Amino acid sequence: MSAELGFSTSGPSQVRRERSVASSSLATARWCARRGWPVHPLAPGRKTPAANCAACRATPHTAAECVCLPLGRWCHGFHAATLDQRRIDQWWGTNPDFGVGVACGPANLVVIDIDAHAVQPPDRNRILPGITIGEQIDLSGLSNGFHTLAVLAALRDQESPADDDTTLRVRTPSGGMHVWYRAVDYRRWQCSSGSSKGRALAWQVDVRAHGGYIVAPGTVTDKGTYTAIGSVREPAELPKWLAQELERTGHLPAPNIPAPRPVPPRAQQAVLAAGGAATGAERALKAVLAPVWACGRLAEGAGFSEALNRAAYTLGGLVAAGRMTKAEAEHILTETAEAVRPGQSRRAEQIISSGLTAGSKRPLYNSGGHL
Ligand SMILES: [Zn+2]
Ligand SMILES: [Zn+2]
Repeated sequence: MSAELGFSTSGPSQVRRERSVASSSLATARWCARRGWPVHPLAPGRKTPAANCAACRATPHTAAECVCLPLGRWCHGFHAATLDQRRIDQWWGTNPDFGVGVACGPANLVVIDIDAHAVQPPDRNRILPGITIGEQIDLSGLSNGFHTLAVLAALRDQESPADDDTTLRVRTPSGGMHVWYRAVDYRRWQCSSGSSKGRALAWQVDVRAHGGYIVAPGTVTDKGTYTAIGSVREPAELPKWLAQELERTGHLPAPNIPAPRPVPPRAQQAVLAAGGAATGAERALKAVLAPVWACGRLAEGAGFSEALNRAAYTLGGLVAAGRMTKAEAEHILTETAEAVRPGQSRRAEQIISSGLTAGSKRPLYNSGGHL
Protein backbone atom coordinates (compact mmCIF):
# COMPACT_ATOMS: atom_id res chain seq x y z
CA MET A 1 0.00 0.00 0.00
CA SER A 2 2.74 2.46 0.92
CA ALA A 3 4.65 1.50 -2.22
CA GLU A 4 1.55 2.09 -4.31
CA LEU A 5 1.15 5.53 -2.80
CA GLY A 6 4.85 6.28 -2.86
CA PHE A 7 4.81 7.78 0.60
CA SER A 8 8.21 9.36 0.92
CA THR A 9 10.43 9.71 3.91
CA SER A 10 13.41 11.99 3.87
CA GLY A 11 16.52 10.27 2.56
CA PRO A 12 18.78 9.91 -0.46
CA SER A 13 16.05 8.56 -2.69
CA GLN A 14 13.75 11.49 -1.92
CA VAL A 15 13.82 12.97 -5.43
CA ARG A 16 13.19 9.64 -7.15
CA ARG A 17 10.36 8.89 -4.74
CA GLU A 18 8.77 12.27 -5.30
CA ARG A 19 8.71 11.60 -8.99
CA SER A 20 6.93 8.29 -8.40
CA VAL A 21 4.45 10.12 -6.18
CA ALA A 22 3.82 12.63 -8.93
CA SER A 23 2.97 9.88 -11.38
CA SER A 24 0.56 8.20 -8.97
CA SER A 25 -2.08 10.80 -8.19
CA LEU A 26 -4.57 8.33 -9.68
CA ALA A 27 -3.37 5.68 -7.22
CA THR A 28 -3.73 8.18 -4.36
CA ALA A 29 -7.27 9.08 -5.44
CA ARG A 30 -8.21 5.40 -5.70
CA TRP A 31 -6.64 4.66 -2.33
CA CYS A 32 -8.70 7.41 -0.67
CA ALA A 33 -11.93 6.34 -2.38
CA ARG A 34 -11.43 2.75 -1.25
CA ARG A 35 -11.46 4.08 2.31
CA GLY A 36 -14.78 5.79 1.66
CA TRP A 37 -13.26 9.26 1.34
CA PRO A 38 -14.75 11.19 -1.61
CA VAL A 39 -12.02 12.86 -3.68
CA HIS A 40 -11.83 15.90 -5.95
CA PRO A 41 -9.02 17.29 -8.13
CA LEU A 42 -6.60 19.97 -6.95
CA ALA A 43 -4.95 22.37 -9.41
CA PRO A 44 -1.58 21.06 -10.65
CA GLY A 45 1.16 21.96 -8.18
CA ARG A 46 -1.25 23.74 -5.83
CA LYS A 47 -3.27 22.92 -2.74
CA THR A 48 -6.39 24.67 -4.09
CA PRO A 49 -9.15 22.94 -6.09
CA ALA A 50 -8.92 22.61 -9.89
CA ALA A 51 -10.61 25.49 -11.70
CA ASN A 52 -14.31 25.49 -12.56
CA CYS A 53 -15.39 25.13 -16.19
CA ALA A 54 -15.86 28.28 -18.31
CA ALA A 55 -19.65 28.19 -17.89
CA CYS A 56 -19.41 28.01 -14.10
CA ARG A 57 -16.88 30.85 -14.04
CA ALA A 58 -19.12 33.00 -16.24
CA THR A 59 -22.35 32.72 -14.21
CA PRO A 60 -22.22 32.85 -10.42
CA HIS A 61 -24.25 30.04 -8.84
CA THR A 62 -24.03 27.56 -6.00
CA ALA A 63 -22.87 23.97 -6.28
CA ALA A 64 -26.42 22.85 -5.52
CA GLU A 65 -27.71 24.69 -8.60
CA CYS A 66 -24.92 23.46 -10.88
CA VAL A 67 -25.55 20.95 -13.66
CA CYS A 68 -21.83 20.14 -13.99
CA LEU A 69 -21.66 17.85 -10.99
CA PRO A 70 -24.25 15.31 -12.12
CA LEU A 71 -22.59 15.46 -15.52
CA GLY A 72 -19.33 14.32 -13.98
CA ARG A 73 -17.34 17.55 -14.11
CA TRP A 74 -15.15 18.64 -11.21
CA CYS A 75 -16.54 22.17 -10.79
CA HIS A 76 -17.10 23.70 -7.32
CA GLY A 77 -14.16 22.20 -5.46
CA PHE A 78 -14.99 19.69 -2.77
CA HIS A 79 -18.67 19.71 -3.77
CA ALA A 80 -17.58 17.60 -6.76
CA ALA A 81 -15.87 14.99 -4.58
CA THR A 82 -16.78 11.45 -5.58
CA LEU A 83 -16.22 7.80 -4.72
CA ASP A 84 -17.07 6.70 -8.27
CA GLN A 85 -14.12 4.68 -9.59
CA ARG A 86 -14.96 5.36 -13.21
CA ARG A 87 -15.08 9.11 -12.64
CA ILE A 88 -11.84 8.95 -10.65
CA ASP A 89 -10.10 7.02 -13.44
CA GLN A 90 -11.33 9.60 -15.93
CA TRP A 91 -10.33 12.67 -13.89
CA TRP A 92 -6.85 11.63 -12.79
CA GLY A 93 -6.16 9.32 -15.71
CA THR A 94 -6.41 12.23 -18.14
CA ASN A 95 -4.92 14.77 -15.69
CA PRO A 96 -2.08 13.04 -13.82
CA ASP A 97 -0.79 16.45 -12.63
CA PHE A 98 -3.89 17.01 -10.53
CA GLY A 99 -3.44 16.70 -6.79
CA VAL A 100 -6.02 14.95 -4.63
CA GLY A 101 -8.37 16.66 -2.19
CA VAL A 102 -10.60 14.75 0.25
CA ALA A 103 -14.00 16.20 1.21
CA CYS A 104 -13.81 15.82 4.98
CA GLY A 105 -17.53 15.96 5.83
CA PRO A 106 -18.83 13.11 3.67
CA ALA A 107 -15.63 11.18 4.46
CA ASN A 108 -16.57 11.40 8.14
CA LEU A 109 -13.17 12.89 8.88
CA VAL A 110 -12.01 15.58 11.30
CA VAL A 111 -8.52 16.76 10.43
CA ILE A 112 -6.53 18.95 12.80
CA ASP A 113 -4.43 21.24 10.58
CA ILE A 114 -1.44 22.55 12.53
CA ASP A 115 0.42 25.51 11.05
CA ALA A 116 4.02 26.44 11.70
CA HIS A 117 4.08 30.01 10.39
CA ALA A 118 6.64 32.13 12.16
CA VAL A 119 4.55 35.19 12.99
CA GLN A 120 3.96 37.26 16.11
CA PRO A 121 1.37 35.58 18.37
CA PRO A 122 -1.85 37.50 19.07
CA ASP A 123 -3.08 38.73 22.43
CA ARG A 124 -2.96 35.97 25.05
CA ASN A 125 -6.75 35.69 25.27
CA ARG A 126 -6.81 34.60 21.61
CA ILE A 127 -4.18 31.85 21.92
CA LEU A 128 -6.78 29.34 23.14
CA PRO A 129 -10.27 30.80 22.60
CA GLY A 130 -12.40 30.56 25.72
CA ILE A 131 -9.45 29.78 27.98
CA THR A 132 -7.81 32.51 30.01
CA ILE A 133 -4.07 32.08 30.22
CA GLY A 134 -2.91 33.87 33.39
CA GLU A 135 -0.36 36.66 33.19
CA GLN A 136 1.99 34.60 35.36
CA ILE A 137 2.42 32.05 32.55
CA ASP A 138 5.36 32.88 30.30
CA LEU A 139 4.33 32.63 26.64
CA SER A 140 7.50 34.10 25.17
CA GLY A 141 8.54 30.86 23.44
CA LEU A 142 5.12 30.29 21.88
CA SER A 143 5.23 30.92 18.14
CA ASN A 144 3.11 28.39 16.21
CA GLY A 145 0.25 25.88 16.17
CA PHE A 146 2.36 23.02 17.54
CA HIS A 147 2.87 25.12 20.67
CA THR A 148 -0.74 26.24 21.15
CA LEU A 149 -2.05 22.69 20.66
CA ALA A 150 0.56 21.38 23.11
CA VAL A 151 -0.57 23.95 25.69
CA LEU A 152 -4.23 22.95 25.22
CA ALA A 153 -3.37 19.25 25.53
CA ALA A 154 -1.25 19.87 28.63
CA LEU A 155 -4.12 21.82 30.24
CA ARG A 156 -6.31 18.75 29.72
CA ASP A 157 -3.59 16.36 30.82
CA GLN A 158 -3.53 14.75 27.35
CA GLU A 159 -0.99 14.06 24.64
CA SER A 160 -0.87 16.62 21.81
CA PRO A 161 -2.47 15.30 18.59
CA ALA A 162 0.82 16.24 16.88
CA ASP A 163 2.45 13.42 18.87
CA ASP A 164 -0.39 10.92 18.37
CA ASP A 165 1.32 8.03 16.58
CA THR A 166 -1.84 5.90 16.61
CA THR A 167 -3.39 7.88 13.75
CA LEU A 168 -2.57 9.05 10.21
CA ARG A 169 -0.42 12.17 10.41
CA VAL A 170 0.80 14.04 7.36
CA ARG A 171 3.74 16.46 7.19
CA THR A 172 2.94 19.49 5.00
CA PRO A 173 5.48 21.21 2.72
CA SER A 174 5.43 24.33 4.96
CA GLY A 175 6.46 22.38 8.07
CA GLY A 176 2.94 22.01 9.44
CA MET A 177 1.08 18.79 10.14
CA HIS A 178 -2.34 17.31 9.39
CA VAL A 179 -3.62 14.95 12.06
CA TRP A 180 -6.44 12.82 10.64
CA TYR A 181 -9.25 11.48 12.84
CA ARG A 182 -12.49 9.62 12.24
CA ALA A 183 -15.63 11.29 13.55
CA VAL A 184 -17.81 9.08 15.71
CA ASP A 185 -21.57 9.21 16.30
CA TYR A 186 -22.10 10.91 12.91
CA ARG A 187 -21.76 14.29 14.50
CA ARG A 188 -21.40 17.02 11.88
CA TRP A 189 -18.23 18.72 13.01
CA GLN A 190 -17.71 22.10 11.35
CA CYS A 191 -14.58 23.67 9.90
CA SER A 192 -12.74 26.52 11.56
CA SER A 193 -9.69 28.67 11.15
CA GLY A 194 -7.33 29.23 14.07
CA SER A 195 -7.09 32.93 13.22
CA SER A 196 -10.86 33.44 13.26
CA LYS A 197 -12.38 35.72 15.87
CA GLY A 198 -15.41 33.43 15.84
CA ARG A 199 -15.07 29.65 15.95
CA ALA A 200 -11.49 28.47 16.57
CA LEU A 201 -9.77 25.68 18.52
CA ALA A 202 -6.34 27.27 18.97
CA TRP A 203 -4.21 29.90 17.31
CA GLN A 204 -2.53 28.51 14.14
CA VAL A 205 -4.66 25.37 14.32
CA ASP A 206 -7.41 24.92 11.73
CA VAL A 207 -10.10 22.26 11.83
CA ARG A 208 -11.15 20.57 8.57
CA ALA A 209 -14.51 18.86 8.70
CA HIS A 210 -17.94 19.53 7.13
CA GLY A 211 -17.64 22.33 4.59
CA GLY A 212 -13.96 21.74 3.95
CA TYR A 213 -11.38 19.48 2.35
CA ILE A 214 -7.88 18.27 3.09
CA VAL A 215 -4.93 17.55 0.79
CA ALA A 216 -4.41 13.76 0.53
CA PRO A 217 -1.06 12.30 1.57
CA GLY A 218 1.10 11.67 -1.47
CA THR A 219 -0.02 14.87 -3.22
CA VAL A 220 2.86 16.85 -4.70
CA THR A 221 2.74 20.65 -4.94
CA ASP A 222 5.29 23.19 -6.13
CA LYS A 223 6.23 23.68 -2.46
CA GLY A 224 6.79 19.97 -1.79
CA THR A 225 5.04 16.70 -0.97
CA TYR A 226 2.36 15.96 1.61
CA THR A 227 4.07 13.05 3.33
CA ALA A 228 2.55 10.54 5.74
CA ILE A 229 4.60 10.18 8.92
CA GLY A 230 5.69 6.76 10.16
CA SER A 231 3.75 3.69 9.09
CA VAL A 232 0.18 4.47 10.28
CA ARG A 233 -2.11 5.07 7.31
CA GLU A 234 -5.55 4.92 8.96
CA PRO A 235 -7.22 7.68 10.99
CA ALA A 236 -7.97 6.74 14.59
CA GLU A 237 -11.23 7.69 16.29
CA LEU A 238 -11.41 11.33 17.31
CA PRO A 239 -10.20 11.30 20.94
CA LYS A 240 -12.97 12.05 23.44
CA TRP A 241 -11.12 14.94 25.07
CA LEU A 242 -10.55 16.56 21.68
CA ALA A 243 -14.22 16.10 20.76
CA GLN A 244 -15.10 17.87 24.01
CA GLU A 245 -12.75 20.73 23.14
CA LEU A 246 -14.25 21.01 19.65
CA GLU A 247 -17.73 21.07 21.14
CA ARG A 248 -16.69 23.70 23.69
CA THR A 249 -15.29 25.90 20.91
CA GLY A 250 -18.45 25.75 18.79
CA HIS A 251 -17.56 23.12 16.18
CA LEU A 252 -20.99 21.51 16.20
CA PRO A 253 -23.83 23.12 14.21
CA ALA A 254 -26.40 25.20 16.04
CA PRO A 255 -29.10 22.97 17.56
CA ASN A 256 -31.84 24.45 15.33
CA ILE A 257 -30.85 22.51 12.19
CA PRO A 258 -33.88 20.95 10.48
CA ALA A 259 -34.74 17.54 11.83
CA PRO A 260 -34.51 14.59 9.44
CA ARG A 261 -37.51 14.57 7.15
CA PRO A 262 -39.91 11.67 7.47
CA VAL A 263 -40.60 9.88 4.20
CA PRO A 264 -43.98 11.09 2.90
CA PRO A 265 -46.37 8.16 2.51
CA ARG A 266 -47.30 9.27 -1.05
CA ALA A 267 -43.73 8.89 -2.24
CA GLN A 268 -43.31 5.64 -0.37
CA GLN A 269 -46.33 4.25 -2.17
CA ALA A 270 -44.88 5.44 -5.46
CA VAL A 271 -41.73 3.44 -4.76
CA LEU A 272 -43.77 0.34 -4.07
CA ALA A 273 -46.17 0.90 -6.96
CA ALA A 274 -43.39 1.31 -9.48
CA GLY A 275 -42.01 -2.04 -8.42
CA GLY A 276 -45.27 -3.67 -9.44
CA ALA A 277 -46.43 -6.92 -7.92
CA ALA A 278 -43.11 -8.70 -8.18
CA THR A 279 -41.39 -8.46 -4.83
CA GLY A 280 -37.99 -9.03 -6.41
CA ALA A 281 -38.38 -5.96 -8.59
CA GLU A 282 -39.71 -4.04 -5.61
CA ARG A 283 -36.65 -4.88 -3.60
CA ALA A 284 -34.37 -4.00 -6.51
CA LEU A 285 -36.01 -0.62 -7.03
CA LYS A 286 -35.76 0.12 -3.32
CA ALA A 287 -32.06 -0.68 -3.47
CA VAL A 288 -31.57 1.61 -6.47
CA LEU A 289 -33.35 4.49 -4.74
CA ALA A 290 -31.96 3.91 -1.24
CA PRO A 291 -28.96 6.25 -1.67
CA VAL A 292 -31.33 9.03 -2.74
CA TRP A 293 -33.51 8.47 0.34
CA ALA A 294 -30.39 8.43 2.49
CA CYS A 295 -29.73 12.05 1.48
CA GLY A 296 -33.07 12.99 3.03
CA ARG A 297 -31.78 12.10 6.47
CA LEU A 298 -29.18 14.86 6.23
CA ALA A 299 -30.04 18.52 6.30
CA GLU A 300 -28.28 19.49 3.05
CA GLY A 301 -25.78 18.54 0.39
CA ALA A 302 -24.48 15.06 1.07
CA GLY A 303 -24.22 13.89 -2.50
CA PHE A 304 -27.89 14.18 -3.38
CA SER A 305 -27.16 15.08 -7.02
CA GLU A 306 -24.81 12.17 -7.42
CA ALA A 307 -27.18 9.72 -5.72
CA LEU A 308 -30.09 10.85 -7.89
CA ASN A 309 -27.95 10.77 -11.00
CA ARG A 310 -26.86 7.20 -10.27
CA ALA A 311 -30.39 6.04 -9.59
CA ALA A 312 -31.54 7.66 -12.86
CA TYR A 313 -28.64 6.05 -14.68
CA THR A 314 -29.62 2.60 -13.40
CA LEU A 315 -33.30 3.07 -14.21
CA GLY A 316 -32.28 4.34 -17.66
CA GLY A 317 -30.64 0.95 -18.15
CA LEU A 318 -33.87 -0.81 -17.10
CA VAL A 319 -35.89 1.31 -19.54
CA ALA A 320 -33.47 0.48 -22.35
CA ALA A 321 -33.85 -3.21 -21.53
CA GLY A 322 -37.64 -2.84 -21.76
CA ARG A 323 -38.16 -3.67 -18.11
CA MET A 324 -40.02 -0.48 -17.25
CA THR A 325 -41.32 2.43 -19.28
CA LYS A 326 -39.53 5.76 -19.44
CA ALA A 327 -42.64 7.41 -17.95
CA GLU A 328 -42.53 5.02 -14.99
CA ALA A 329 -38.86 5.73 -14.41
CA GLU A 330 -39.37 9.48 -14.63
CA HIS A 331 -42.35 9.29 -12.29
CA ILE A 332 -40.63 7.36 -9.55
CA LEU A 333 -37.44 9.43 -9.73
CA THR A 334 -39.37 12.71 -9.68
CA GLU A 335 -41.50 11.58 -6.72
CA THR A 336 -38.46 10.43 -4.80
CA ALA A 337 -36.50 13.59 -5.52
CA GLU A 338 -39.42 15.82 -4.53
CA ALA A 339 -39.82 13.93 -1.25
CA VAL A 340 -36.13 14.11 -0.39
CA ARG A 341 -35.46 17.68 -1.57
CA PRO A 342 -38.80 19.52 -1.85
CA GLY A 343 -38.94 22.56 -4.09
CA GLN A 344 -35.91 21.71 -6.20
CA SER A 345 -37.81 20.08 -9.03
CA ARG A 346 -36.14 22.02 -11.85
CA ARG A 347 -32.71 20.91 -10.81
CA ALA A 348 -33.92 17.35 -10.13
CA GLU A 349 -35.52 17.24 -13.56
CA GLN A 350 -32.19 18.06 -15.22
CA ILE A 351 -30.35 15.42 -13.22
CA ILE A 352 -33.01 12.78 -13.89
CA SER A 353 -33.10 13.56 -17.59
CA SER A 354 -29.32 13.40 -18.03
CA GLY A 355 -29.07 10.25 -15.87
CA LEU A 356 -31.79 8.43 -17.77
CA THR A 357 -30.25 9.39 -21.12
CA ALA A 358 -26.79 8.22 -20.08
CA GLY A 359 -28.15 5.01 -18.54
CA SER A 360 -30.25 4.16 -21.58
CA LYS A 361 -27.01 3.55 -23.49
CA ARG A 362 -26.31 0.58 -21.23
CA PRO A 363 -29.37 -1.67 -21.16
CA LEU A 364 -29.66 -3.72 -17.96
CA TYR A 365 -30.97 -7.12 -18.94
CA ASN A 366 -31.85 -9.58 -16.20
CA SER A 367 -28.74 -11.05 -14.67
CA GLY A 368 -28.38 -13.40 -11.77
CA GLY A 369 -31.84 -12.67 -10.39
CA HIS A 370 -31.00 -9.03 -9.60
CA LEU A 371 -33.07 -6.21 -11.02
ZN1 LIG B 1 -18.97 23.74 -14.44
ZN1 LIG C 1 -21.27 25.26 -11.66
